[in-house]
Amino acid sequence: MDYDYLLKFLALGDSGVGKTSFLFQYSDNVFHEKFISTVGIDFREKRLIYRPPTEDGFLSQRGQRIHLQLWDTAGQERFRSLTTAFYRDSMGFLLLFDITNEQSFVSIRNWLDQLKTHAYCDDPDVILCGNKADLEDERVVSEERARETAKRYGLVYMETSAASGQNVAKAVELLVDMVMKRM
Ligand code: GDP
Ligand code: MG
Repeated sequence: MDYDYLLKFLALGDSGVGKTSFLFQYSDNVFHEKFISTVGIDFREKRLIYRPPTEDGFLSQRGQRIHLQLWDTAGQERFRSLTTAFYRDSMGFLLLFDITNEQSFVSIRNWLDQLKTHAYCDDPDVILCGNKADLEDERVVSEERARETAKRYGLVYMETSAASGQNVAKAVELLVDMVMKRM
């Protein structure tokens, strides 16, 4: 094995919020205007080095080699049963909504219910991503409202853009930190 840890993360959220775009932006630094809608499930891979903070606050010399598998899902209801098995295997979750789409924000609750039912534990690490942050003119969910909701559910909140790349790597890396702290 040429890595120390294999971490599986799962991207969730309604269809069209930008899950596939987000994962492509993270793994390949590309953004496509038009994507064929995801059928079933697929994953992207990436290697990174995790350096746990030492007691004196400095980063340790030897990093852990992380092999990341980022699983994509189709948001469609009819595929939900297909993704169920993947909840169990995932150690961290990226829950996306689209800041220009009210319904995708309302759906967060349902996704969290699914998560709590199927995840490996009661309080898995989740980052809530308010995606399409580049579309500020079309925003319908304010950052304040999103932060309140995240706080209520005990989630970390970040505003992301799969188009510009804003906070995409940061969100994934923060999730790696959170998950690795449990190891
Ligand atoms: P998925 O169904 O959640 O996988 O969503 P997709 O990744 O297929 O994205 C749906 C549509 O939104 C596509 O047309 C994307 O180009 C677009 N999109 C995704 N993320 C962003 C973003 O951050 N900003 C903008 N402007 N468009 C995005
Ligand atoms: Mg997709």
